[in-house]
Amino acid sequence: MMHFLASKAGVKVINQLEQAGYEAVFVGGAVRDHLLGKRATDIDIATSAEPSEVKEVFATTIDIGIEHGTILVLVDEEPIEVTTYRTGEIRAQLNTVKSLREDLRRRDFTINALAMTKEGQFVDFFDGREDLKKRLIRAVESPKERFEEDALRMLRAVRFASVLDFTIEKETFETMKKYAYELQPVAIERIKVEMDKMFLGNNPLKGFKLLVESGLNQALPLFPSEFCQLEDLLPFEFTKEGWTIFMLLGRFTASEVGNAYKLSNDEKRFLSHVEKAYTIRLKKIFTIDDIYFYDAMILYIVEKFYIAMNNLKKDVSIETFEREKEKLPIQSLKDLKVSGQDLLKWANVRGGRWVGEWMQKIEYAVLHGHCKNEIAIIKEWFINDFDSER
Ligand code: ATP
Ligand code: MG
Repeated sequence: MMHFLASKAGVKVINQLEQAGYEAVFVGGAVRDHLLGKRATDIDIATSAEPSEVKEVFATTIDIGIEHGTILVLVDEEPIEVTTYRTGEIRAQLNTVKSLREDLRRRDFTINALAMTKEGQFVDFFDGREDLKKRLIRAVESPKERFEEDALRMLRAVRFASVLDFTIEKETFETMKKYAYELQPVAIERIKVEMDKMFLGNNPLKGFKLLVESGLNQALPLFPSEFCQLEDLLPFEFTKEGWTIFMLLGRFTASEVGNAYKLSNDEKRFLSHVEKAYTIRLKKIFTIDDIYFYDAMILYIVEKFYIAMNNLKKDVSIETFEREKEKLPIQSLKDLKVSGQDLLKWANVRGGRWVGEWMQKIEYAVLHGHCKNEIAIIKEWFINDFDSER
């Protein structure tokens, strides 16, 4: 039972803390995922030790959120988050059992408010295991108080509903409807993290629907008003894919989505490529030049979206476009057998804009099969045409 959650490194961390006289338990998502039989994305440990005390116990630590009492401990290269019991101001007067209870009470949902000792014994003050069985997302004690403390938790409820394909408990959901507008002032960086995870869940369609039903969509900077085609587009394999479909469904531009949700530069670039490729696809099927220019992933997402929007009975995968790309005489400029250096040598004139222009001409000719990708052939063509042009 213990073996798999108990990342060995996690057990080592707890052992060391205990040997130093502190109490330490697994908490949060790691315990939840253990009970669900899933591998946790990260291991969180709560302890009675203060951050400075945690740092004394371990050789390698990183301050990642010391203001929240969190220290990252590295054991066998595995990062383990160790957080001092969060109890508000009264910790000093509490014994450790009460402190752990206070810590768990401050968590968002009952399924995330479970703790487990390294021996596999559960600490479950809020019936988290019961809710796990019922597949329910229920705020710890008072939904109103939990959401007042942190409005992001409403979006987290939707995120967990998508990731785990769970239902949001009635009172929790009713409270979300009432306070949805409170999400608006929450930092967009925090919102984006939850959206990223929602996209990759087991049931993102449920996530989208819940955002609308709760009214949280109105507190988000942008949200598509129509997403009935979403079902045909799932599952998402990458967060970028999620953001792309989000953009296309909402008919937003890449920069609208990129700016509104503070996407990374890499994500922005990806969205803008998809935006361009989709404009092309709306006019005609992809040409050799498009297949050459765009990544297979971009072409795939665009084609998949096009198929869904037009109810076409067609299958498409990334491999479809990877194969198309492989069929081309060259996959990129690097594959050309000649370089700008060769042109300079053959022309025996000074470099200038003509080099780039000629490289493009050769690239086009080879790509379209007008000229073989062989030095001798390209050279002959070049020497003939270059001289006659001058
Ligand atoms: P994931 O598998 O996505 O990492 P998780 O449950 O571990 O899910 P995290 O965001 O990593 O979620 O947070 C770890 C734990 O910290 C949660 O399980 C929860 O107990 C607590 N937590 C995180 N964010 C909040 C929050 N905004 N409010 C209350 N508790 C939170
Ligand atoms: Mg986590």
